[in-house]
Amino acid sequence: MPARIIDGAAVGDAMRTELQRDIRALGARGVTPGLAAVLVGDDPASATYVRMKGKACDEAGLYHETIRLAKETTEAELLALVERLNADHKIHGILVQLPLPKQINTQRVLHRVSPEKDVDGFHPENVGKVSIGDPTGFRPATPYGVQQLLVRSGVETTGTHVVIVGRSTIVGRPMAALLLQDGPGGNATVTVCHSRTRDIKSVTRQADILIVAIGKAEFVTGEMIKPGAVVVDVGVNRMDDPSLKKGYRLVGDVQFEEAKKVAGAITPVPGGVGPMTITMLLYNTVQAARQWAPA
Ligand code: NAP
Repeated sequence: MPARIIDGAAVGDAMRTELQRDIRALGARGVTPGLAAVLVGDDPASATYVRMKGKACDEAGLYHETIRLAKETTEAELLALVERLNADHKIHGILVQLPLPKQINTQRVLHRVSPEKDVDGFHPENVGKVSIGDPTGFRPATPYGVQQLLVRSGVETTGTHVVIVGRSTIVGRPMAALLLQDGPGGNATVTVCHSRTRDIKSVTRQADILIVAIGKAEFVTGEMIKPGAVVVDVGVNRMDDPSLKKGYRLVGDVQFEEAKKVAGAITPVPGGVGPMTITMLLYNTVQAARQWAPA
């Protein structure tokens, strides 16, 4: 039987509808959650992501600002902007779109964002809180979205063996921290693989739930998946496709056609993890407004 398709767009939409109750409650206190997105340079993919986030804020009734800076912007100029946003009462969440140009030290910038407004969850204070399970810490949007997608699709994580492929600070590592927590969407036994893992297929084949975030188009083939496993494909890769007007199509890190014959359930690309990432960014911005706006 082909795998059940886990529909991230539908789950994301349902969660955004639920979020309206919190947004209305904040509105009754005179608070509109506000998100500032900072985009440095003219990377087209980054510009698209920032546009999508702005559109999602508009649709949800959140205030948002996008600050676009030239690719020659200095680190000092960007740090000054972050300080200004840290002090701006209309702004509850700040995101600095990555990657940043070479002349800027990314860590220095991310560490300057106030932890109280760090809705991407990249500040060490939030990384620490997430790793000890403190709910006031902001959970990075992509792994938080994957966790919610599993919970809301009825995939039980407790007692399962989850294999994560990829150990980035944005996806793989915080994903492992969330799955280890004692609560819904947690209590898993977690293995994390990376580029130095030996015989990766023998590890991925042990997974009850396989989460792939490496940025390599269609890396995971059908034979790397245990029959009946749940497969979550975080990857977003452009693959040349001259038959399309734009010249490319988006594919994940998993060979979807092969995988869906073996897996019990699978997320598509697009329409799987992507919509959940944006939804969780809205959640984090609302959480920031709830936690830190004056009562
Ligand atoms: P990243 O920072 O480049 O990290 C990639 C990770 O994959 C690294 O840990 C690397 O291992 C590992 N890796 C690379 N090649 C490997 C191989 N052959 N075997 C095993 N592990 C390998 O990437 P990222 O930021 O986590 O993003 C990963 C993918 O997710 C990208 O396609 C990105 O576009 C996508 N993404 C999607 C969303 C969304 O909302 N849908 C959000 C974020 C990211 P080493 O550490 O050993 O180098």
